Amino acid sequence: MAEVKRVAIKATNQLREVMAKHFMELGEAAKMKNKKIAWCSSVGPAELAHSLGFLVYYYENHAAILGSNRTASDYIPIANAHGYSPEICSYLTSDIGAYLKGETPLTKAYGIDKVPKPDVLLYSTNQCREVYDWMTFYAHEFKVPLLGVNTPRTQRQVREDTVKSVAAQLEQMVPELEEIAGRAFDIDRFREILVISRECSRLWEAVLETAAARPSPLTFFDACIHMGPAVVMRGREEANDYYRLLLEELKERVNQGIAAVEGERNRFYWEGMPIWGKLRGMSELFSRLKGCIAVSTYCSSWVFSGFDPKDPFQSMARAYCSIFIVQDDKAKEDYIAEKVEHFGIDGILYHDAKTCPSNTNNRYGMANRLSERLGIPHLIINGDLNDLRCFSEEQTVTNVEAFVEQIEESR
Ligand code: SF4
Repeated sequence: MAEVKRVAIKATNQLREVMAKHFMELGEAAKMKNKKIAWCSSVGPAELAHSLGFLVYYYENHAAILGSNRTASDYIPIANAHGYSPEICSYLTSDIGAYLKGETPLTKAYGIDKVPKPDVLLYSTNQCREVYDWMTFYAHEFKVPLLGVNTPRTQRQVREDTVKSVAAQLEQMVPELEEIAGRAFDIDRFREILVISRECSRLWEAVLETAAARPSPLTFFDACIHMGPAVVMRGREEANDYYRLLLEELKERVNQGIAAVEGERNRFYWEGMPIWGKLRGMSELFSRLKGCIAVSTYCSSWVFSGFDPKDPFQSMARAYCSIFIVQDDKAKEDYIAEKVEHFGIDGILYHDAKTCPSNTNNRYGMANRLSERLGIPHLIINGDLNDLRCFSEEQTVTNVEAFVEQIEESR
C-alpha cells in the first residue's frame, strides 16, 4: 500500500510544550500545601475555579489519554471487578481502573508519579450524569467535597428559568470554594477569566473554521489533538497564545493550498466521540481514500462564545446550557445541517459509541432524517471512545471503503 504523504502541522511542537507545562505545573502543585487543585468535568465551571486560584485538572482528558495510548483496555476490567459495569462510560471505567491499579500515563509522559490529588471535585451534568457518578467515587476515595451543577437536558432552546437556576447553583458554590481555596472570591478576577476563556473559544472556533477551505488545512483527527489547550487550559493566556500561532500557520496553509489530505476529493462530518485508540489508523484510512473529515460536533464542543464579563454568572450559565449535547434532536439536526452546508460536506459519519449514549446521536432516527433532509448519505461506525473491544477495524475499513465508493459513484 502506498505511503500516505502529509505536510505536518509545525505548531505541534509548541502544542507538546504547552501541554507539558500544564501537567508539570499540576505535578508540582500536588507537592505544595499552598496550591489548591480542582478536578473539573470538561464542560464544568472551570472559570470559577480559576478565578479562585485553583489549578484545574480535567479527569476526562486523563481518560482520553488512556484511550489514545491504548492502555484503557487494561484498566476497564479492573473497574468492572470493582462493580462498575462494562456497559457504562469507558472514560469512567478506564480512569477508575487506572487509579485502582495505581498507574497513570502522566508518569511516563511527564514524570508525575500519580494523578494530582484534588482539594475539590467539580462537575456539571450538562453533558451526562456519569461525571457525577465518576466523581462520587473520588469524593469517597480522597474525602474531599464534591460540588456540581445539575442542568436539564434535551432542550430545543435554553429557557430563562433554566439559566437562572444554573446561575444560582454556580453562585451557591462560591462560599464553599472560598473556604477550600482559602481566599475571597473576586468578581473582577472572575470577569477577567471569562474574557480570557471567551478569547480561547473565539480562537479555537477560528482554527476549526479554516477547514471550510478547499482543500482543508486540517482534519478532525488533527483537531482532536490540537483541541488539548481549549479543553484543559481555557481561561489561561497560554492557550490563547498557542491558538494564535496555530491559526496563523493554518491560514498560511490555506493561502498556499496545503492540504491536510493530499488530493482531497470528499468531505465528511464526524458526529460523536473520537475512537481515541484508532485516531492514527482512521486518519490514514481516510487519507488513503482522499477523504477529509472537515468538521465534527465533538471538536466544536469547546466553543463558549457567550461568556459576558458584564453578566458573569448568567452568561456562564447560558453558555454551559447551550452546548450541543444538551439540545433536543431538532436543534442538533439544525446545527449539523448548517455545518454540512457551510463546510461543503458529502457524507455524515456517525460514531455509535457503545458506552456513551449521551454523545451518540444516531439511535433515534437522526441519521435517516438528516440524510433525507440534506440529500447526502451517512454511515454508522460502531465502536467506542476507549473500549476497543467494541470496535472492529476490519469491518470499519470495509464499510468506510464502500461508503466512499458509493459517494464517488453518485457523482
Ligand atoms: S459524555 Fe460520554 S464519554 Fe463523556 S463522561 Fe459522559 S458518558 Fe463518559
